[in-house]
Amino acid sequence: MTISADLKGHVAIVTGSTSGIGQAMAKQLAKQGCNIIVNGLGDPAKIEEERAGIAAEFGVEVKYHGADMTKPEEIADMVDFAKREFGRLDVLLNNAGVQFVSPIEDFPIDKWNQIIAINLSSAFHATRAAVPIMKAQGRGRIVNLASAHALVASPFKSAYVAAKHGVLGLTKTVALEVAEHGITCNAICPGYVRTPLVEAQIGDTAKARGMTPEQVMKEVILAAQPTKKFVEFDEIGGLLIYLVSDAGASVNGAGLAIDGGWTAA
Ligand code: NAD
Repeated sequence: MTISADLKGHVAIVTGSTSGIGQAMAKQLAKQGCNIIVNGLGDPAKIEEERAGIAAEFGVEVKYHGADMTKPEEIADMVDFAKREFGRLDVLLNNAGVQFVSPIEDFPIDKWNQIIAINLSSAFHATRAAVPIMKAQGRGRIVNLASAHALVASPFKSAYVAAKHGVLGLTKTVALEVAEHGITCNAICPGYVRTPLVEAQIGDTAKARGMTPEQVMKEVILAAQPTKKFVEFDEIGGLLIYLVSDAGASVNGAGLAIDGGWTAA
């Protein structure tokens, strides 16, 4: 990746950074000199290994906060943790997310509530807590890891698509509120990225559509992307680094598709 920014001394919270895109984005930010607060679920020993690994590889400070993204008070404490530990917060990357695939008539109510809480409401709670810190600094970057599903729908993903469209609405609203304070709020809308979240839905989609997992991969997942390729971590990282850099100062309230042309169709 050739895009770089000087983020030395900056502090970023990356929610859901114990796996997949969040973990990759934490490393992309650390590579630019940014201190990181890692968050997410998982085996404590593996999380500690990741935390120490990023710190050692990039020479930055990395701390872990285990806020559960379904719990507003824990999310607020995670944002306050940035202030307590580092005295500042420059980047908030709302990335934590889960998926569940089912026809709406069978969609479990607890799954709906969980997806809305983690994929949408957590971004509200974190942003609500982060904005006063960023306003006091006169600078900040809020990036919501949305999805192509913030722009278009797919069947059997009612909660996910509703949450991601909601994230884009939240993004635009916050952007208008913070615009005069040196803060931007944008949404990155990737197509399919090969992570555990996608691997896990192959089986469920196969069941919902009566297909084999191989058919789902070819005919559903990569069929959506004109490039017929997964979106790569480095490609999302390039966009993220641009958005959080000074060069990104006038990009505000945007839902930026990075989907190989999926949503152009
Ligand atoms: P992933 O399953 O690899 O990672 C999800 C992360 O969220 C993990 O770190 C997990 O621990 C964390 N998480 C889940 N529930 C949590 C909770 N209650 N509290 C705290 N953390 C929690 O998934 P991913 O594919 O890397 O997805 C990351 C984001 O990117 C999600 O918002 C997802 O919707 C979005 N996205 C993914 C794709 C894709 O194709 N993979 C495409 C577009 C958007």
